Amino acid sequence: MTGFGFDAPTVIRTKRDGGVLSDAAIDWVIDGYTRGDVHDEQMSALLMAIFLKGMTPGEISRWTAAMIDSGDRFDFGDLRRDGKPLRLVDKHSTGGVGDKITIPLVPVVMACGAAVPQAAGRGLGHTGGTLDKLEAISGFTAELSKAQIRQQLQDIGAAVFAAGDLAPADRKIYALRDVTATTESLPLIASSVMSKKLAEGARALVLDTKVGRGAFLKTEAEARELAATMVALGKAQGIGTRALLTDMAGPLGLTAGNAIEVEESLDVLAGGGPADVVELTLALAREMLDAAGIDDVDPAQTLRDGTAMDRFRELVGAQGGDLSQPLPVAAHAETVTAARGGTMGDIDAMAVGLAVWRLGAGRSTPGGRVQFGAGVRIHRRPGAPVAAGETLFTLYTDTPGRFEGAMAELDGGWSVGDAAPDARPLIIDRIT
Ligand code: URA
Repeated sequence: MTGFGFDAPTVIRTKRDGGVLSDAAIDWVIDGYTRGDVHDEQMSALLMAIFLKGMTPGEISRWTAAMIDSGDRFDFGDLRRDGKPLRLVDKHSTGGVGDKITIPLVPVVMACGAAVPQAAGRGLGHTGGTLDKLEAISGFTAELSKAQIRQQLQDIGAAVFAAGDLAPADRKIYALRDVTATTESLPLIASSVMSKKLAEGARALVLDTKVGRGAFLKTEAEARELAATMVALGKAQGIGTRALLTDMAGPLGLTAGNAIEVEESLDVLAGGGPADVVELTLALAREMLDAAGIDDVDPAQTLRDGTAMDRFRELVGAQGGDLSQPLPVAAHAETVTAARGGTMGDIDAMAVGLAVWRLGAGRSTPGGRVQFGAGVRIHRRPGAPVAAGETLFTLYTDTPGRFEGAMAELDGGWSVGDAAPDARPLIIDRIT
């Protein structure tokens, strides 16, 4: 770094060589990248250096603050319902496969009386993004102005939106990480999640921190450290923050993709759907309601009595979506069948996530278009009986040339054996 100012090669070299970036260097590089003075190739090199060398807690905290300062910070503390302040609470997942939980969760929490300002993301690496899924609904837009978000929170109690003017540095860095193999980094995940969440105006926050093969951080120790880091970042800013550690060794539910995950979420909102999706939706809803100080409602009742589905229709309608239109269906499908009978073994979330990405549900260039119909449907859950010749997976895409690569990713990511695999708890721990 020069006496007068900073330059990108010196900042990169400092981190590359295992040094600690000063607060001023972090502020400079985030600001410079947001304005375009620091270039993509320079930020890519710095992200890789951070990926390889890590960051101290002080660096993570400053990097997060600099990303928040790169944009607007919402405050909805003045909004009232029945004369009382809105109970503003949100959740964020650190990224999983088949993780459609936001879609049923937000309306459940709305139906219980809390308000959710949710800055959501697009797909990252092998994981799906809530916005890519919701945009599969005809007409749905996540590009909401601050005024629209305020109005929606006031009128219906939720808005799910692209971060837009919130943490624009994260938007650029997130897109760059997606295509530079720098997603699986504790400091980069913690700062990415918390910059958006601390800027969006929620007063309480629940973090779904994923553990296992399909998570960015594979080991329980790493996931615990990530959860603790994010909880500390939230608390330091006066936001009541807690985390659940949840299993991501296998995909959530029976679908991974975009439109097919919306379809499965609608099943949950209609009172059905896969047991694991329902369990996690309700566990996170209970945490969010508790964090928001609401203890007199049973979130499960909102799935049984249809009130959560009503709120979802309201939310989608407010954002231009039309649920009466059919969800997109891929032009081509291929199946994987069982060569032998037996019992379905574990399904590797990473193998499924990569197959879904290869089928076109994710991106390989920044800002690329996703295929809404692409994805993988799972027909047999781990532990289910399987007959020889039965369909185990259906793969969907609009571009049949993608099947070969997707099949190769899935290959080896599942098995049929003689005994059921060991059951794992979905919710591993709670970190406050
Ligand atoms: N979600 C985010 O917003 N950022 C990450 O890095 C991972 C999950």
